[in-house]
Amino acid sequence: MSQPEDFPFQIEDIVQMLNLNIRRRMTNGVYVDCPFCGDNRGKMNVDYIKNVWRCNYCGECGGMLSLYAKLNGVNNSIAYRQICNAISNGYDISEHQIKKSKKDLKKVPQALLADNRVIHNTFSKLLTMLTLSEKHRNHLKEKRGLSDEQIKYLGYKSTPPFYNGRLLVDHLIANGCTVEGVPGFYKRNGKWTINFTSNTSGILLPVRGIDGLIHGFQIRLDMPIKNKNDVSDKEGTKYIWLSSSGKYMGTSSGSPVHFVGNPFSRTVYVTEGILKSDIAHCLMNRTFIAIPGANNTAKLDLLFAILAQNGTQLIIEAHDMDKYRNEQIEKGASKIFLISKKYGMECRRLIWNPNYKGIDDWQLALRQKQNMKKGENTNINVQQSSNQVKQCYRIYQLALDTGTVDFAFGGIKMLHKAGYEQPPADLYQLVYDGVLSCDNGDEKNKRLKQIFEKYQDELPDEYLGRSISPSDILELYDEEKREYYYVDKSGFYPVKFLPMLAKALNQSRK
Ligand SMILES: [Zn+2]
Repeated sequence: MSQPEDFPFQIEDIVQMLNLNIRRRMTNGVYVDCPFCGDNRGKMNVDYIKNVWRCNYCGECGGMLSLYAKLNGVNNSIAYRQICNAISNGYDISEHQIKKSKKDLKKVPQALLADNRVIHNTFSKLLTMLTLSEKHRNHLKEKRGLSDEQIKYLGYKSTPPFYNGRLLVDHLIANGCTVEGVPGFYKRNGKWTINFTSNTSGILLPVRGIDGLIHGFQIRLDMPIKNKNDVSDKEGTKYIWLSSSGKYMGTSSGSPVHFVGNPFSRTVYVTEGILKSDIAHCLMNRTFIAIPGANNTAKLDLLFAILAQNGTQLIIEAHDMDKYRNEQIEKGASKIFLISKKYGMECRRLIWNPNYKGIDDWQLALRQKQNMKKGENTNINVQQSSNQVKQCYRIYQLALDTGTVDFAFGGIKMLHKAGYEQPPADLYQLVYDGVLSCDNGDEKNKRLKQIFEKYQDELPDEYLGRSISPSDILELYDEEKREYYYVDKSGFYPVKFLPMLAKALNQSRK
């Protein structure tokens, strides 16, 4: 095959030809919706200079021919022929447009990434010049459970007002810091500045390597970037990198991997998201790695090699609990498993109470519960045994050891969205059959709530399931009738359910 330069078309022609939905335009290319995994947040980067593409969500990637070839299920030479045919049959590749954009692209020189120590030095100095706003501090303390000391230790600061950028940079340079080749810095009108804008205000999160050096920053945005045309209920982009890629003498963040904790730890946890891993580290006192996306595992190879040498024996995958309904996260998790194995380390998956999505949410809830218990000890529970009756019940949960389920831990809406009018009993297993003591006058809803609360986090030994969560089925029964309820965040929905299709009580606790 000849080099892309010799081709009568460019990757942007293929983007046009395939009618990919462009979400953002960069100087070097575009971000489009991924036609492979169906992501509609523009996670696929198409590089117009290198003629390559990669989806940061599902991990699919390749050269310009493979973009067409993979989508159409043909090999590269057939792809080449078909694209040429399309062009000769009148598909307009608008010659002048390519030349123009090519010329524009090449006009923007990028700086080479500086040495790790240089980057660290500049970023450390920058942090000393910034403060953390009261609003951000309150969020971190009240919503995320961090203490003042922990915030200080993690080095979180607020992004400066955008108009201060140039002043800050002048000050850095006056202090002997190098800014060329440091992500985020670039030249405008002949002077160095930094890429803080009014749209990127938020909490600046230092991203550190296993060497303890700051390799970059992520910004937790005050105002998530939401696409106007996006009809889905997704929250939008909450985290971005500090980067100056595509700007004059700019530098890309390089999406570094974050490490927090002990570099010689026997056990290391892997999760997605810088802030999440920092919080989980503080609450659990364990060592964490944060990767930029569940499928973004490329940089783990080098890090795992170092860890294995340092004596790490166990890697624990701690991705959000929606991994049980998301094939892409599942795919990323199996990569973590393979890389661990490659370096002779064991890899396990961590599961927790599915009512909490992230490991940090779960740990925070556990801590709040403990604090509440301490306060409750003086309350003596007086049993009012006036009119007690027995209520028989069963609990069914999705059997997830064989793969993902579209609506796992999701509410009734998600069940319907997944295409089910009623919960498909064959995907469930019976995990418990028990009896509840309750007041005769208690309504069904109160009884269901009691059952729900009985199985949260501290699970009795004889109970073989997980904490009760959305997508579970609760059955209330007596000699005459059986009633089934689908657990949702907002309550319990009566459903039809065929228990004979569900798997029998599983003896191995999941
Ligand atoms: Zn994708």
